[in-house]
Amino acid sequence: DRTGRQVHLVSRPDGWPRPSDFALVKVDVPEPADGQVLVRNRFLSVDPYMRPKMNDVRSYTPPYELNAPMDGPAVGEVIASGSPERAVGEVVVHQAGWREYAVLDAARTRPVDVTVAPASAYLGVLGLTGFTAWVGMVDIAAQQAGETVFVSGAAGAVGSVAGQIAKLRGAARVVGSAGSAAKVARLHELGFDAAFDYHDGPVRRRLAEAAPDGIDVYFDNVGGEHLEAAIAAMKPFGRVAMCGSISSYNATEPPPGPRNLALAVGKQLTLRGFIIGSHRHRHDEFVAQVAGWLREGAIRYEETVLDGIENMVEAFLGVLRGDNTGKMLVRSTPPA
Ligand code: NDP
Repeated sequence: DRTGRQVHLVSRPDGWPRPSDFALVKVDVPEPADGQVLVRNRFLSVDPYMRPKMNDVRSYTPPYELNAPMDGPAVGEVIASGSPERAVGEVVVHQAGWREYAVLDAARTRPVDVTVAPASAYLGVLGLTGFTAWVGMVDIAAQQAGETVFVSGAAGAVGSVAGQIAKLRGAARVVGSAGSAAKVARLHELGFDAAFDYHDGPVRRRLAEAAPDGIDVYFDNVGGEHLEAAIAAMKPFGRVAMCGSISSYNATEPPPGPRNLALAVGKQLTLRGFIIGSHRHRHDEFVAQVAGWLREGAIRYEETVLDGIENMVEAFLGVLRGDNTGKMLVRSTPPA
């Protein structure tokens, strides 16, 4: 009989999560029923959005239940199938992450083409974070050639792809902010025209130095001081794609709003939030374009990988702290 490990949320974090809010639990893995598959998960995703889901507050997704496995993106291979639609050996992405083996309906898995990119890429550049970057830049910000673009969280999974997409779409200047000198150096390698460490003085000043003529587009992964600085730097008719606000995910008090929001009137700005799950109709076009760029070597991606599900919580805390460059993942190698 097969057993596998999975991570449960056992208490709701107050502020920064603690390892004791989680438990690694060994469970029996059932055989797949009719219509189901058994997937041996090879890569598990940790994502910032998981932090708000740990609170007992309904946002755009329901909160995680206590004493049950969490979910999230994962990729793995089918090792037993009760469905004619999935063959043993197929590599699939699905949402039953945070566990070594997943038993789920075949219809809730999507096969991926590992000849285009390795399986792990389907959790990053060709997965949810790449899709988020593409939709945010192309559809939400409607970024045009010749524009100046600012991306926060720029060394992360979404931000590093968003900045490169802007460049590929003809941005005149792409500016990124990130949390360390090493990340800033990496942004230059990825083709960002300017980059700064947001710890080095007020964001507003660093942004004014990096984009002295102002910005047309802001891709916001961070919120707070970054958003306020971007509003100050916006040119008339500028657009903000509001993707996330990681600077407040562990806050115990609601963060203050941007104090200069009223500037949006005179500058005629558009600030538009989006949730990637509402843009599934764009998925095929996203894959076609980004897979093409990958084949041409026009877009690069990075991963920060920890080994073993026992390091899943550490990886999750790491993504909130900024330990990662590119997509943060856990490699899982349960017996086949
Ligand atoms: P990242 O890979 O960007 O990891 C998070 C990064 O946030 C860290 O590496 C860290 O980098 C940075 N960070 C942490 N705390 C702060 C802070 N106080 N101020 C500034 N930066 C901070 O994660 P993702 O690419 O997965 O996600 C990026 C954003 O996109 C998040 O806000 C997330 O919620 C959002 N998102 C939104 C989706 C949607 O549908 N709207 C879908 C997917 C993601 P550093 O060292 O630079 O501080």
